[in-house]
Amino acid sequence: MDNEKRQGLLSVVLPSYNEEASVPRAAETISGILTGAGIRHELIFVDDGSRDGTWKAIQTQTAQRSQVRGVRFSRNFGKEAAIFAGLAQARGDCTAVMDCDLQHPPEKVVEMYCLWQEGYQVVEGIKVSRGRENPLHTLAAKMFYSAISGAMGIDMSKASDFKLLDRRAVDTLLAMREKNAFFRALSSWIGFSTAQVEFEVQPRLEGESKWSIRSLVRYAITNIAAFSVAPLQLVTLLGAAVFLCSAVLGVWSLWQKVTGRALEGFTTVILLQLLIGSILMVCLGIIGYYIGKIYEELKDRPRYILADQCEGEKEHGQAEKTL
Ligand code: UDP
Ligand code: MG
Repeated sequence: MDNEKRQGLLSVVLPSYNEEASVPRAAETISGILTGAGIRHELIFVDDGSRDGTWKAIQTQTAQRSQVRGVRFSRNFGKEAAIFAGLAQARGDCTAVMDCDLQHPPEKVVEMYCLWQEGYQVVEGIKVSRGRENPLHTLAAKMFYSAISGAMGIDMSKASDFKLLDRRAVDTLLAMREKNAFFRALSSWIGFSTAQVEFEVQPRLEGESKWSIRSLVRYAITNIAAFSVAPLQLVTLLGAAVFLCSAVLGVWSLWQKVTGRALEGFTTVILLQLLIGSILMVCLGIIGYYIGKIYEELKDRPRYILADQCEGEKEHGQAEKTL
């Protein structure tokens, strides 16, 4: 790693959906803090098909500040899409992603940038508290995170979309071809040298949260499905369980028959039903397994990601960077 601290352009990606009041505040606050810390930066607002004056607000900011840029979606594509659009626009040597409602404290970006200067390639914002929200929401979030953590084998309960990524990590994410990319999980999945910064979720100053219970459930299902084929394999497990019960019930009805307590012909019907039921379930599970494999292949994720390369005296990874 370089002994000298690296300097570089920092891009800040701000997905914004109906945030006309937050945009000017975000631009002013973030730009002020970064300028104060002497960090060269650009702010990229991604208007995710807002229906209020968000785009106007972004245009006003681009007219007033040279370091602000904006892109606008043709309709609402969701926060994940907005983040990836922002990453694609970013020209920085490193890129931070944060909410434009300032619930992610901008001072922490300076801390993240310092960690990047020390050589870290992925700096993750870790929530120490979830801020104020209703208990139902907290419970739903808990269930979602335990499912997704189980699927990924990484603890995601404190993960957030507040991250700073080195150019290399950004390019890796952009090279992923899957359409249902789940940013906060995928940015951990890619690996690289990772540091963590803790932050408190701030109260929202303007407007309100864009998440309804319906959109949260949809978000949970899409993202669990993007990271795990376990639900498909549940059918196999269910099949096995039904088969076990069938065996017990089968023995029992045979016993009834032998001891002469069964009605004529009834044992055959029960046995056939149990057998066919469990065979069908296991078959569905097997088909599910292959569909799961097809799904994984379709996502076309890379088999591995190189962090660096070296050859003789030359260190490629770092050398490329300084060009
Ligand atoms: N957002 C977005 N598209 C959406 C919903 C939200 O770009 O469809 C943005 C929103 O403008 C904000 C960030 O994602 O900058 C987080 O959204 P919000 O504050 O509503 O979520 P919460 O903080 O309550 O999780
Ligand atoms: Mg918010």
